[in-house]
Amino acid sequence: MAYTYRITVLAGDGIGPEIMAVAVDVLQAIAPRFNLTFEFTPALMGGCAIDAVGVPLPEETLETCKNSDAVLLAAIGGTKWDTLPRHLRPETGLLALRSGLGLFANLRPARILPQLIGASSLKPEVIDGVDLMVVRELTGGIYFGQPKGVFASETGEKRGVNTMAYSESEIDRIGRVAFETARKRNKKLCSVDKANVLEVSQLWRDRLTALSADYPDVELSHLYVDNAAMQLVRWPKQFDTIVTGNLFGDILSDAAAMLTGSIGMLPSASLGATGPGVFEPVHGSAPDIAGQNKANPLAMVLSGAMMLRYGLNQPAAADAIETAVLSILDQGYRTADLAAPDTTILGCQEMGEALLKLLCQ
Ligand code: NAD
Repeated sequence: MAYTYRITVLAGDGIGPEIMAVAVDVLQAIAPRFNLTFEFTPALMGGCAIDAVGVPLPEETLETCKNSDAVLLAAIGGTKWDTLPRHLRPETGLLALRSGLGLFANLRPARILPQLIGASSLKPEVIDGVDLMVVRELTGGIYFGQPKGVFASETGEKRGVNTMAYSESEIDRIGRVAFETARKRNKKLCSVDKANVLEVSQLWRDRLTALSADYPDVELSHLYVDNAAMQLVRWPKQFDTIVTGNLFGDILSDAAAMLTGSIGMLPSASLGATGPGVFEPVHGSAPDIAGQNKANPLAMVLSGAMMLRYGLNQPAAADAIETAVLSILDQGYRTADLAAPDTTILGCQEMGEALLKLLCQ
């Protein structure tokens, strides 16, 4: 069956346009093999949008995103825009995009590629074979709960307040994304909370347990967040899919990412209940190497694979891209950030050409 997908392309700033060009070429290259057609529409977001039209997320860009099947985002930001007032910063555009598209679920895979095992700071026997996914709630919890602020007491002493709050419906919707994600993987879901201390976590645990009745094929377990952090560095192979709230997910997803040791290899997905998801590398716009053909485009390419798997339900095409990335590494090709003895260092563009050559064989 043939499918046509409208993809909004937000190349952004810094290395963004360089890595996005590679990802778009790779998607175009695999499309015919899987009977897919991609209609790519570039749009402005971040610093480039500020320069062109004065705001980081133009209304037109949000509309284009809403009217597409998926959004590919490279990276935004840079020192040039750091002194602008907060509402005009590139990062504000990112937050506005997430809320505009209702993206409440953030999926961050951490997979150890055998070819890059030396890049991790952990022992090879601990990380060999690690392949896990952190599903983080993105729009609730302590980052958004009310009341929040710094308040003066009667004595004049200031008191900082944030509120960790989750409603049943907020827990259920992230829970369902997590169970569905685990279903597409090894069917093991670990829910992380602090139910021994926090009431909000007890509700979280109760809802996850109740939801599990609808997913009898997925094995659900629970861990307290302190233990989860310990287990992640002690024996990460025990995890398949992890689901957790905004604050715990922020911390655990970074820790999980660093198991792999290579920021240029990490994709992510942000999903809503309906409508397009946003697929982007974990790293930023790397202004220090922008325009020098040094960027590693593989996290961006793997974000394209995540788009196919989790946004467009085209797992075979996603597999093809992921296999090509592994083959390229097997052949000893690396970008400068992954330089190691006996490897061949390629520029961003040349890495893209090597991938295309492989995919078009
Ligand atoms: P960064 O991820 O851009 O860079 C950190 C380091 O990693 C740098 O040395 C950089 O050269 C390197 N690096 C990152 N991606 C790489 C790649 N693909 N290939 C090779 N090397 C790579 O983080 P930063 O320096 O803290 O932030 C730079 C800018 O990016 C800031 O303006 C920040 O706000 C923004 N940022 C944007 C996003 C996003 O768009 N989602 C995320 C994080 C940071």
